[in-house]
Amino acid sequence: MSRLGVDVLLLSVGADLPYLTGYEAMPLERLTMLVLPLGGEATLIVPRLEAPRVEERPEAFTVRPWDETEDPVSIVAGLAGGARQAAIGDRTWARFLLGLQEALPGVRFRPATKVMSPLRAVKDAAEVESLRAAAGAVDEVALAMRDRPFAGRTEAGVSREIVARMLEAGHERANFAIVASGPNAASPHHEPGARIIVEGDSVVCDFGGRWGGGGYCSDITRTFVVGEPSSELAELYAVLRVAQERGVEAARVGTTCEDVDAAARAVIDLAGYGEYFVHRTGHGIGLEEHEDPYLVRGNAEPLQAGHAFSVEPGIYLPGRCGARIEDIVVATESGPERLNQAPRDLAVVA
Ligand code: ZN
Ligand code: ZN
Ligand code: ZN
Repeated sequence: MSRLGVDVLLLSVGADLPYLTGYEAMPLERLTMLVLPLGGEATLIVPRLEAPRVEERPEAFTVRPWDETEDPVSIVAGLAGGARQAAIGDRTWARFLLGLQEALPGVRFRPATKVMSPLRAVKDAAEVESLRAAAGAVDEVALAMRDRPFAGRTEAGVSREIVARMLEAGHERANFAIVASGPNAASPHHEPGARIIVEGDSVVCDFGGRWGGGGYCSDITRTFVVGEPSSELAELYAVLRVAQERGVEAARVGTTCEDVDAAARAVIDLAGYGEYFVHRTGHGIGLEEHEDPYLVRGNAEPLQAGHAFSVEPGIYLPGRCGARIEDIVVATESGPERLNQAPRDLAVVA
């Protein structure tokens, strides 16, 4: 904060607050906010009725519950008074930011990402263990799905099975379970629906959740095919396999995020599928399923030991089929370490 010229840090809904305090604000209309002045005592402003949820940590912050008839914005403004530069959490509701701007006309507001992202992006050993546990659980699910029938079921039905298996394997919640079949497989963020999976379909299954006990996130993609793949699918999948491998190999400490993206993309470009790889190669992962660092062209940030991120190239042929392979990888001093181990071949299912 001192280096960035930030006098006060203001954190509300989102993952920054639990990262520092262990407490996750309810994303509702009442304001919860940690006020952390540079060199001062931290105070957690919390609605009186939600205060019992807070596990108090007096060594880290004091709790200031507010009553229904109080104005929480003026309480925050009072604690932040005197600041010139405030860093405020990205997910803070606009109405609270607008209220604070009005209450503190002399204060310049900047995104708290500048302060929080470098801290959150580099995972320590305990954080990597939480990511590893979550990755192991979705690996189990991916492995189990190889022996399950797909044909004749709806995407939504397969998605529900994946969610149930994630919870059974130790996740406290499922964040998403994309099941995209046939032509829908060409839509990277497809919402699983009523389409019935048929022979010949490629089925992209991308799923992840949050590990139990307030843990970290999982995120994996495996592609299945019902019956023998067409030569078109087999060919693009072979290219994708190499692209994903190259992306993982490139993810070394000191390599820039955009160079990791370029390593995976070059394989796909060279094979002539470049225009069908329509998204970045990966995203950081931790308390949130998508966070810094992003593996995308234009991000010249070098990887550091402890950075954890996905490597997930995909090839999508509109109206026909698609495939994606995704693993979570940690950059370490001894090279990239994959947390996901489930087989990456195109899984032939019934
Ligand atoms: Zn995605
Ligand atoms: Zn994913
Ligand atoms: Zn992902």
